[in-house]
Amino acid sequence: MTTLETAVSPRRPARAPARGAPPGPPPDEAVAPLLALHAAQRPGSDLTPLRRAYEVAERMHHGQTRKSGEPFVTHPLAVATILAELGLDTTTLVAALLHDTVEDTAYTLTELRADFGAEVGVLVDGVTKLDGHRWGERAEAETYRKIVLAAAADLRVLVIKLADRLHNLRTLGAQPPHKRARIARATHELYVPFAERLGIHVLKREMDDLAFAAGDPAGYAAAERAVRVALRDPAAAFGPALARVRASLDAHGVPGDLSVRRSHLYAVHRATGGDVAGLRACQVARLQLIVDGPDRDCYIALGAVHAALHPIPGQVRDFIAMPKDNLYRSLHSRVITPDGDPVEVIIRSAAAHPVAEYGIVAHIRDAGTVADAVTGRRDLEWLGRLLAWQRGASSAEFLEGLRAGLSDGSIAVCAPSGQLITLPAGATALDVAYALGPATGDHCIGALVNGRHAALSAEVRSGSVVQVLTDPAAAPSPGWLDSAVTPAARTRVRTWPERRHGPEYAGRAALARAFAARRRDLPAAEARGDALAAARALGHGDPGPMYRALHEGTLRLADLLDRFPAPVRAPDSGGDDRGTSR
Ligand code: MN
Repeated sequence: MTTLETAVSPRRPARAPARGAPPGPPPDEAVAPLLALHAAQRPGSDLTPLRRAYEVAERMHHGQTRKSGEPFVTHPLAVATILAELGLDTTTLVAALLHDTVEDTAYTLTELRADFGAEVGVLVDGVTKLDGHRWGERAEAETYRKIVLAAAADLRVLVIKLADRLHNLRTLGAQPPHKRARIARATHELYVPFAERLGIHVLKREMDDLAFAAGDPAGYAAAERAVRVALRDPAAAFGPALARVRASLDAHGVPGDLSVRRSHLYAVHRATGGDVAGLRACQVARLQLIVDGPDRDCYIALGAVHAALHPIPGQVRDFIAMPKDNLYRSLHSRVITPDGDPVEVIIRSAAAHPVAEYGIVAHIRDAGTVADAVTGRRDLEWLGRLLAWQRGASSAEFLEGLRAGLSDGSIAVCAPSGQLITLPAGATALDVAYALGPATGDHCIGALVNGRHAALSAEVRSGSVVQVLTDPAAAPSPGWLDSAVTPAARTRVRTWPERRHGPEYAGRAALARAFAARRRDLPAAEARGDALAAARALGHGDPGPMYRALHEGTLRLADLLDRFPAPVRAPDSGGDDRGTSR
């Protein structure tokens, strides 16, 4: 029953560009393996839409090649194949085949909707990058925001995006080194955390290792060698421990599947800080026990493991009573092997196992409808929080907050109700208040941390019980920004005056910030009558409705700025119109 996980290693880099790219196989032949895979994974599926989608993708991408020299259509086909392997539904695979058509070919979203329906339209639109020309330097941040908003309607958008990134990583060898490094960094910063938050560990592990290999080839080679050497003889390293645990499980009457699981290379690299020389087997692998029965049998199994191998104090973590953000449910412990080595043990039920490996994909796979994909999101509290705070955030704030929110190193505190709140390290009582809800945050006045009074600025520690004190008359003040760490809190505090005074005020504040960023002065421009002139040119009687339109997004900031005359350049002011007068 003991199995050793097969090695996870990056695929061989794609071939060097061939001169005069060979034509691909005929469409029927090229798409056949995908159809067979999908039919095997989801018997009874109608394969016609997949055939049609491949035909359209093949036709629209015709003549385009990848860096490797292969026809471009091999990329969407590979992305669809990754998703078919995960057992996803036909609509997701159709969208995957078409995912680059709207971005890179003449095919429009309108045509796509007419040909394949609204559901495919939502998915393809969600993964389509925003036009760099129109959005300029904000394009990257706003593209991520667009993906997150689309994922709120349908989580399959994020799953397609992850499969897209995975295939690009698998074929990274064809890219120049500087591009490889940039893609590796973005993968670790954003895509891996997204995969982790969605619980799709199979994608996360492969992306982790591919990005590791691309960003740090020497470190990767060292980790690969060290793990190979450490696991030369797994039977000798783990045999005695496995025998004892099996006997104990039998004695406790808990049947299950016990195996040795190799850690992926990037995890080993991180855990050792890159110092991988002379690693022992127990440092690069762990024991995994999948219990046949329900969750409660996992606790009996934990007792059986601890009876067989001495537990290390303080190392039990119960992710069944307190599931992780990504719905992961398991028990973790560390025990001492008969050879005196500490080793990690993970115990979960057979029902929880697919979710531990595939996360949200396991939910979508079983449901397979938009409605259920949306339901899946309700379990993902972090996505709800992300959607809530992003509303008031600028592009830069959004990207910064997204990176910070997705990075690990988080702490967890408890509300008196028992509600668990996950926050970034360094978070304060004020952050806890906003995590409990915007109204709690806006009206908070202090907190009781483990029963003792604490200021809103007090940093909270993991494991504390935090009760937030509120007063209906209290309101955010600018000074709170010094205490706010999470984007949720920062955004709410920063936008308080605008929320309080309405959309005109908010629009004017946004314009004033844009002016200030250009070292210009909005009040001065208003005093000169420039704002009134701009408002009249836009068909408004006064600047109020113009500011409201700016806040509501019907008027673009860049367009409005263009309507203000350029600052008069005073001989000695260096282009700064602050304080100049006419
Ligand atoms: Mn793509």
